[in-house]
Parts: sequence; C-alpha cells; structure tokens
Amino acid sequence: MAKRIAVLTSGGDAPGMNAAIRSVVRCGLSRGWVTYGVYSGFKGLISGTIEQLTTRDVGGVIQRGGTLLGSARCEEFKTVDGRELALRNLNQKGIEALVVIGGNGSQTGSYELNMMGFPVVGIASTIDNDLVGSDITIGVDTALNIALEAIDRLKVTASSHQRAFIIEVMGRKCGYIALMSGIAGGAEAITLPEVKTDPEELAVTLRAAYEHGKSHALIVAAEGAEYNAAKLAEYFYANKERLGFSIRSTILGHVQRGGTPSAYDRILASKFGLGAVEAIEREEYGVLVGIKGNQVLTTPLEEIAGKTKQLDPAVIQLAKTLD
Ligand code: ATP
Repeated sequence: MAKRIAVLTSGGDAPGMNAAIRSVVRCGLSRGWVTYGVYSGFKGLISGTIEQLTTRDVGGVIQRGGTLLGSARCEEFKTVDGRELALRNLNQKGIEALVVIGGNGSQTGSYELNMMGFPVVGIASTIDNDLVGSDITIGVDTALNIALEAIDRLKVTASSHQRAFIIEVMGRKCGYIALMSGIAGGAEAITLPEVKTDPEELAVTLRAAYEHGKSHALIVAAEGAEYNAAKLAEYFYANKERLGFSIRSTILGHVQRGGTPSAYDRILASKFGLGAVEAIEREEYGVLVGIKGNQVLTTPLEEIAGKTKQLDPAVIQLAKTLD
C-alpha cells in the first residue's frame, strides 16, 4: 500500500547524511510512496516546515557534506508539549512514518516520539560513533580520514623542527575519533574522555620517544578529555624548563564535519536508507537501522535511548602498545 513518509536530519551534521536522505527518498519513491523532507530537524517538525521531495530534489547531493535538509538542536522537542505540536503537523500532512537520521540524542527523541504512538525509524548517523545499535555510523569514516590527513601533515612539520605537537580532534564525551586517528596516525600519545591522563607520565613518554631516536612527538587529544589541547599546552608551557621541550597545538574543530563524504560513508548511508524504507514496509517501528558484523539490521530504540557505546578496552590497550 502506498505510504506517505517523511525524513529529517537532527543533531550534529555528519558527512553522508545527504546520501541517506537521497536513499530514503528514492527507495520510497520506487515503491510508489510519497516522500517529504522536514527542514531543521525536530525544530522543523514543531514549526511545520515540511515539504514534499521528488527524485530531482535529492539529485546532485550525494557528494556533498552537511545536510540539504538542515539540522538543529531543539530543546522544545524534549518536552511533551513540543512533541505534541510535532505530531499535529505530521498528522495534518497525513504522514504515516518518520525517518530520523542522527546520533544519540536524536534517537532518544525518536524513541520518545515513537512512545507517543507515532511510527518512527532511526538511521545511525554521528561522527562520534557512540550509538549502541551500530558498529559504525554515518560520518565516522570521513571525519576520521580528515583527522588523519591533518595528523600526517603535522607529522611532517614536527619531524623537520623536532617539535612536539598536540592535535585536538572532536569528541566531547566519546574518544572514538581520537583513539582511531591516533592509532592510524602513529601518535605517541592519545588523551581520551574515557581514560584518566597523568600529564607527567605523558611527558615521560614524549621524552622517551626523543631518546629512542624519534624526530617528532605527536599527541592526539579528544576535545572532551580532561587534558585537551588547551590544558596540555598549559601544562607543558608551565613546565617547559624542566621537561626540556616546547609543544604546539592545533585544534581541528568543525573542519572535521565539513568534508566530502568518503565512498564508505556514501555506501553505508545508501544502505541505511534502504534499511529504513524496508523497516517501514514491514511496519517495524521504534527501531534504529545500523550495521553489525557487515549486516544492516535493526535494534529497538528502547535499547539505544539514553545509552552510549563504550570504547573497546582492547583497542585502547593496542594504542598504548603501538606508541
Ligand atoms: P551528535 O552527537 O552527532 O551531535 P545527536 O543526535 O546526539 O548528534 P544531540 O544534540 O544530542 O545530537 O540531540 C539532537 C536533538 O535531539 C536535540 O536537540 C533534541 O531536539 C533531541 N533530543 C535529545 N535528547 C532528547 C530527549 N531526551 N527527548 C527528546 N528529544 C531529545
């Protein structure tokens, strides 16, 4: 039976979101459904900025970062009153199911809306990779590669001048990007929100790196680590005579979000879009579409809402072994 479905992007934008929107729309249209886009995430659901999307509306976007629908953070959606306004707008347009492309907070919002009786399917998309229902999420691969390119470049200049560098990557609560880009970039040390750092121990590691003949020392710091770039630079500056070397810091910030989505992210997002449409077809609602062991599958939102995926302790150990 023909369905009317809507799609939105919420929370932090992630490279590959456009590919996911395109896939939801085109997989829906191929079934004879009517597809709508909600602009500015849950905010647009509350204000009613919902428009029909045709196949041409999602043309020429697969290679673009960001999201053509826009994204937003919306405090009002956390309230029952806010969500009731959203429901009214969805019902007014005769929309029967909603696809929410976003991270942890967004999928908690999806769960809350689904609990109020509206059919919702989530798509795992955040550069933090902290969603329980998916091994990897849309945007992570691109963000990691951007961080890695910056690390590789800094290493070149660090080697030429025998300077220590700190590079701060995104991750307020989750150190996934710092850990993985640190391993891939051959960092001498990594600081994470999840692991306590002793700056004195870190200085010893860096000094040992020089003594073992390394021409550079590179620390990858997560922005949410206790010792992020600012705190580490402050510590090293205050102790520079004693430690015997100076340190420079670079903060990557939002540069990591804006990249052209990698092939992996475009393909993952296209598969997730199909996964969401198939879930709607089966009338399987209140679930998140993710990937586990190379298999696109669904996990109940109830098991995801309010939870965060933890870093693998074996990978943290590996980073320590390889530094
Ligand atoms: P990222 O981590 O990649 O930035 P995210 O989806 O986790 O993405 P958040 O800012 O945490 O981003 O959440 C996005 C939006 O989801 C919030 O602005 C809010 O509208 C909605 N949301 C978050 N938590 C809840 C909640 N408990 N109930 C209802 N809606 C929520």
